Amino acid sequence: MSKLLIIEDEKSLARFIELEMQHEGYETTVATDGRIGLQLALAGSWDAILLDLLLPELNGMEVCRRIRQFNKTIPIIMITARDSVLDRVSGLDSGADDYIIKPFAIEELLARLRSLFRRVEALQSNEVTILTFKELVVELESCVVKKRDVVISLTKREYDLLVTFMSNINIVLSREVLLNKVWGYSTGVETNVVDVYVRYLRNKIDDQNEGHYIHTVRGIGYVMR
Ligand code: CA
Repeated sequence: MSKLLIIEDEKSLARFIELEMQHEGYETTVATDGRIGLQLALAGSWDAILLDLLLPELNGMEVCRRIRQFNKTIPIIMITARDSVLDRVSGLDSGADDYIIKPFAIEELLARLRSLFRRVEALQSNEVTILTFKELVVELESCVVKKRDVVISLTKREYDLLVTFMSNINIVLSREVLLNKVWGYSTGVETNVVDVYVRYLRNKIDDQNEGHYIHTVRGIGYVMR
């Protein structure tokens, strides 16, 4: 049975999600503030975490950031009442895999959870454990990225993006394809989020003296070559 941690301070919403998830066969635990949520997140072994953005004690973004310091792989879905690009980007940048905007249909949440679980399974069943390209090395089991043996620190989203590029060397990837592969869906996020993250990633992996790893293909998307 999959174990879900729900960190949500609106008790009626938390209860609603909990009942629906239990109905779907998930085992659930609810935390109603950020601090307790973080403690539970770090202490337990969870299959996924649903994390509200606005929480007492410790906000959702900070909770997410701290979870990611210790666990880069556990699926986290951010629940947010706000609907702005900035909040979504910040939420994703703090390490969430996905977000859902209140009010939402429970079917949508379930669909996103299933999509995240599929990605986790695909990663786990993948027998490739090291990706290399030019000077870059990605150790998939430990999520460590190195360039000439120097570790490069990436956020989870940057890491997912890099792995996608390194798994598709010389293949042009459109923004829509990247959204689908890295963010998990093809609509609902502005495609300029992809541009923002490619820029972040380039800043971390490129040297001034050598060419870019990731090339822009005008009007289409990006390619690593
Ligand atoms: Ca809240």
